This record gives sequence, structure tokens and C-alpha cells, in this order.
Amino acid sequence: MLFPRLCCGCGQRLALDEQYICAECSVRLPFESNHEWVYNLRVSRWADHKQLERIGALMRYEHGNVAAHIIHALKYHRRYDLGPWMGRLAVERLAGSGLFDGVDALLPLPLTRARQRFRGFNQAEYIARGMGERLGLPVLTSSLRRVAERESQTHFTLSERLENARHVFELQDASGLDGQHIMLVDDVMTTGTTLLGAVEVLEERPAVRISCFAWAWVMLSEASMATSRAGEHN
Ligand SMILES: [Zn+2]
Repeated sequence: MLFPRLCCGCGQRLALDEQYICAECSVRLPFESNHEWVYNLRVSRWADHKQLERIGALMRYEHGNVAAHIIHALKYHRRYDLGPWMGRLAVERLAGSGLFDGVDALLPLPLTRARQRFRGFNQAEYIARGMGERLGLPVLTSSLRRVAERESQTHFTLSERLENARHVFELQDASGLDGQHIMLVDDVMTTGTTLLGAVEVLEERPAVRISCFAWAWVMLSEASMATSRAGEHN
């Protein structure tokens, strides 16, 4: 399939030697520089999850930045060809960071069947496929099922959102997860409650270790996390 050769960051025409992104956007990619994964604000909340090993992201997501434009193109302009490139970029950039050490398989967060049918693809799966290709890891697409959308969460407190997120995922065909280190993969993390909902479901399996990777995450202060009006990105 042929896609127009336009930059996914700014929409300008790409030069012949450019792929996916122009040179100008490429130097403005907002890479996350904090690779002390456990330092992230979110982790204090996740500390009771003993099976959780690491949580990290490639980019910082801010309204209107290059990462936001790339994710928008992937999801809403059906540029699913970007997904594998995004995944490969993540592995190349984070190769020495330790984030992927010991991971046995990648598990992209599923969409509900209705949403996947509407969009035509799961963007997290395309990112995971690019990562899996570079890491030599399998991509699991039938172990976890998303059974519910989450209603608009803007009027919920964080703990209410978390309670909701627990009922969003269900295990299916999951015996292969036992004893494995599974990395959940999503495109954007805002408060992290969606990923945490999936973590809690995976923890039901014996001896599973879990890490979480978001291609981009929104940096939130503790205060804004409590009252955040940012919607979760599905
Ligand atoms: Zn550009």
C-alpha cells in the first residue's frame, strides 16, 4: 500500500532520503531523558504491585509536540505504517537503558472489539510488532481481552478511575503467561490507570512479572493526577 510521503510530525513533504519524519522534526523529538524508571511519579502509586518490575516511556507527550502529532497520525489518519517504525525507534533509543532486559514477551493493550473494528487496527499492536522485531520477542495478541470501554473519566477521581480500570480487561488463553516477564505496550499513558488495570488482571497468573512501556507519556504532577481532566487515550 502506498502512503503519501509526508512527515508525520509536521505534514510537510519528505525529502527523498527521509522516511516517516523530516530532519527538522527529527531533532525535535521529545525523548524522555529520565531513564531511572522507578523514579517516575507514577510508581509510588504502583508500589504495592510486587510483580511489577519496570515502567518507562520513549517520549514526553505534550499537546501539539512532535510526539503528539505522530500518535495522532497513527491513530486518526490511519498511518498504521508508522507503528512498526515507532517500535523500532523505541528499541534503538532505549537499547542500553535496561528497560527491556529479561522481558520474555510483549503484550499490546487490546482495544474492545467494537473499537478495533471501527479503527481497523490496534495501534499498540503495531508499535509492539516493531519492538518485537528488534528485540526478537513474541507479540501476544490473544492473552488479554478488553471487555469494556471506559466511560469518560473526567469527573472521576483517580481512585474511582482505578476501580473502573479493574473491570476493563479479562484474561483469555493465558496459561502461557505463567512464569514469564511480560511487557505491556501502549501508545500513550496519561494517568496510567488503564495500564494498571491490565497489570492487576495479569497478576492473577502465577509467577508473572510485568513491565509497562508507553511510547509516550504525559508528565503529570501529583496534584494534577488527582484532579486531571486529561482523558485517557484509547
Ligand atoms: Zn516534519
